[in-house]
This record gives sequence, C-alpha cells and structure tokens, in this order.
Amino acid sequence: MENKTSHAPRVAVIGSGISGIASAAMLKKNGFQVEIFEKSSKIGGVWALAYPNVRLQNIFEQYHISDFPWPFKPEYHPTGTQIMQYLQEAVNHFQLDVKLEHEVKSLKEQPEGWLVRIQGPDEYREEPFDFVMVSNGHYSDGKNNLRFPDQELYQGRVMTERDLQSLEAFKGKRVAVVGFGKSAVDMADFAVQQQAEQVFHVFRTPRWMFPGNCSAYISPIIFSTDSGQ
Ligand SMILES: Cc1cc2nc3c(=O)[nH]c(=O)nc-3n(C[C@H](O)[C@H](O)[C@H](O)COP(=O)(O)OP(=O)(O)OC[C@H]3O[C@@H](n4cnc5c(N)ncnc54)[C@H](O)[C@@H]3O)c2cc1C
Repeated sequence: MENKTSHAPRVAVIGSGISGIASAAMLKKNGFQVEIFEKSSKIGGVWALAYPNVRLQNIFEQYHISDFPWPFKPEYHPTGTQIMQYLQEAVNHFQLDVKLEHEVKSLKEQPEGWLVRIQGPDEYREEPFDFVMVSNGHYSDGKNNLRFPDQELYQGRVMTERDLQSLEAFKGKRVAVVGFGKSAVDMADFAVQQQAEQVFHVFRTPRWMFPGNCSAYISPIIFSTDSGQ
C-alpha cells in the first residue's frame, strides 16, 4: 500500500509474543510509530502461558532478536522464566509501547490504512493506523477440549499441559501421556521425576529423540549445515 501520510506511519502490532516484539522493535528503529496490542495481561505469548519447567528446545544463541543479544547469561536451553525476562528486557530496551489487556477485535480496510477495533479493559475504541502487523501466534488460543466415548465413566482427571500449574500434580498418580510432541515428552519426563506411580506414554507416531545434553553440540551443527555454512 502506498503511504501518503506526512507523519511517521503508525503501525498497530497485534500480539506481544516474540514475533510482535521483534517486529515492533525493527519497525520502531526504522522510523515507524508503533503500538503493540496484547489481549492478555502479560507480554510473552506462549511463554507466558507455558507449564512450569518449560525450556527452549533451541539453544539461547539461536533465539533472540538479531540486534539484541541476551543481556544476561541464560542456561544453554533457557527456561521459560528466562525467556520471559529476555522479552521484558527487549520491551524496555526498545522502549516499546505495549497495551496489555487490549484485544484487537476486527480490522476494517480504509482507503489509506486500517481502522483497528480494540477492546480495552474499560473501553472499546476504533483507531486508524497506516499498517497492521499480525503477530497473533498459533498456540495462544484455548486448547481443544478433548471428548472421548464414555469419558464420564473415567474417574481420573483429564488435562492438557495448559492446565498444569504445578508438577506436584503427577505425584503418586498413574499417568497416561498422549502424543509425542515437545510438551508430551516433557510431561512424561516430569511425571517420572515427580514419582508418579506409573507412567504410560501413548502415541501414534514415534519420533527421533536425543538427550538434551547432546543437543548443545548437535543443534549448532544441524543449523549450520542447513544454512549451507
Ligand atoms: C511449549 C512450547 C515450546 C516451544 N519451544 C520452542 C523452541 O524451543 N524454539 C522455537 O523456535 N519455538 C518454540 N516454540 C514455538 C513458539 O510458539 C515460538 O517460538 C514463539 O514463541 C511464537 O511467538 P509468536 O509471537 O509468533 O506467538 P505467541 O507467542 O503465540 O504470541 C502471540 C500473542 O498474540 C496475542 N494475541 C492473539 N490474538 C490477539 C488479538 N486479537 N489481540 C491482541 N493480542 C492477541 C496472544 O495473547 C499472544 O500473546 C515453543 C512453543 C511452545 C508452546
């Protein structure tokens, strides 16, 4: 879209996960006026919602805004708390304007830009912006509510990793973990660590796994091979 405005173009960034923060930082450095709208009460996107003891699968050197390296030394695979701290420091460093508890409800295209409809904690408003950056992620909505035939006959608790507030939940329990993604493998591992009575890991498709302490050495090799270096 051609920008005919005389002021610095205004950009509404939807979402304050790492994508929204990185986009806002780069736009601001390039002279745009940027506001980030975040529907939840915390920045950080998935990292603000993640279960206790979550860690980055990548190593820290591969996960940061390109011109804002980690300002403190995190663990090799940073914890969720360290990632949250990094993102908050990035917001402070780039002096980003983040509006928490502001959900973008809809966008209406205008002859020059967009009318952004925003639900704040106290008010609903419409504001014109020259551009909109959509960084709303794909894991931050509610989880699927699983329903199985005869589920009401089951006496135990059915939960997703989003419901897990404390790893103690596994203690002394018989636990079935369903799936073989990152979160499922973490859950099975946590359950064993927490002395669950028994842990069953149920999945359709097995995947290759290698221990976390190997990934420190292997993942840089994979990444540098992928990029042809
Ligand atoms: C457990 C877990 C582990 C992961 N590990 C890794 C890893 O090791 N390496 C890796 O690269 N990736 C990993 N990921 C993927 C992770 O999703 C990305 O790294 C990254 O954090 C996604 O950031 P994002 O900003 O795109 O989205 P999100 O973090 O999902 O942020 C989107 C934000 O937009 C907000 N939002 C959505 N809709 C609206 C709206 N209408 N109005 C206002 N705000 C809105 C949400 O509230 C949210 O804060 C992991 C994900 C999970 C869940």
